[in-house]
Amino acid sequence: MPKIYIVDVTNRDGVQTSRLGLAKLEKTMINMYLNEMGIHQSEFGFPYTHHEKNYIEANLELAELGVLQPIRLSGWCPMRKEEIRDSFKSGKLKNVNLSISTSHLMTEGKFSGRIVRNPEENPAVPNLLDIMASNVHLAKSLGAEIVGVNAEDASRTDDEFLVRFARQAREAGADRFRYCDTLGYDDPFTIYRRVRMLAEEVGLPIELHCHNDLGLGVACSVAGAQGAIDGGVDAYINTAINSMGERAGNADLVSVILAVKKASGLAGKYLLDERVDLTKAWKIAKYASYAFGVPIPINQVGVGANAFAHESGIHADGALKDRRNYELYDFEELGRGEPEVIDTGRQITAGEYSGIKGFRNVYDQLEIEFHSDKEANDILELVRYANVHTQKPLVDDELRFIAKYPELARRIMTMTPLR
Ligand SMILES: [Zn+2]
Repeated sequence: MPKIYIVDVTNRDGVQTSRLGLAKLEKTMINMYLNEMGIHQSEFGFPYTHHEKNYIEANLELAELGVLQPIRLSGWCPMRKEEIRDSFKSGKLKNVNLSISTSHLMTEGKFSGRIVRNPEENPAVPNLLDIMASNVHLAKSLGAEIVGVNAEDASRTDDEFLVRFARQAREAGADRFRYCDTLGYDDPFTIYRRVRMLAEEVGLPIELHCHNDLGLGVACSVAGAQGAIDGGVDAYINTAINSMGERAGNADLVSVILAVKKASGLAGKYLLDERVDLTKAWKIAKYASYAFGVPIPINQVGVGANAFAHESGIHADGALKDRRNYELYDFEELGRGEPEVIDTGRQITAGEYSGIKGFRNVYDQLEIEFHSDKEANDILELVRYANVHTQKPLVDDELRFIAKYPELARRIMTMTPLR
């Protein structure tokens, strides 16, 4: 039976969003946490963008070292030959999603006659079908193992063209088809019908990329996944941690997992990738909130402060008698319940102007020892740079990462603008 897999796009959709961003070290930590959580794939960035290159290559090396394993790291790339060639130049990238707009509205509005959709429209002008096929061929010829074809604005593309485009993607050798509800225009019923039709007509595994402009991102993602599976193919739901993505955001990672595991029409009927470990939800949501500098709303699904809080008489009494009276799932399932220790006395933090004594004190607390003064000084220098880089106190896992992989940390933080 086909399954539902998660492809997290925080490190691509999240960071390209207005007023949101992550330092490359923070993007690396997100990949580490996603891997720990058993997430199938992280769309981890833009491999053709110059300032991403050191980060991209260092993370692919972490994959080769078995650290970022078994998660798949995949790049996002527009369907332009130059960018695709550039993305594969290092020889390390294995997975990519190639994107182009397919709706009449966007094709007209963005390409204004330079590109048409069908060859019949104007044989003298490049068309979407041929452009897509030649870009898929190129990525495969450069060593891509998994190529996803993204139909941007699929939800505003007519059925007939979408099926034709997806069929051609399959013929060109694409491994997946990404149905992008770029503007969050679908509802659960429309996306179910369309994705099921695509699954039945084309037979390619389908990714659901849903946005929250109408508040339906999670609902459309799971309905689309049901459509894919009922149509006989695997579903890959695109998520973002704390729904950090363009405008009103993407489908929230934790909400999607809970919906698939707990909703009355899905639980036990649709299979979620069994590697997904929901007990890491609390940790990843807290880290993303800290790294983005965006607080978790009090009523956030599963990880908000009120997600397991009861006050009114009937609710509190009921929850105390039997938690199932008012809780659909347990806080322990999300990795909640441990007390948070906040130091209220003296604190030594490691920062961009730290000296060796304070630095040693911080690492002593983590029970990390250095073999020589030189090693300690080298790590101190990296910690200073990491702090310049993130502009906020480093968390324990960041400090541990730097001490464990100093050379990779150095590369992740190195950026030299092109002349
Ligand atoms: Zn998006």
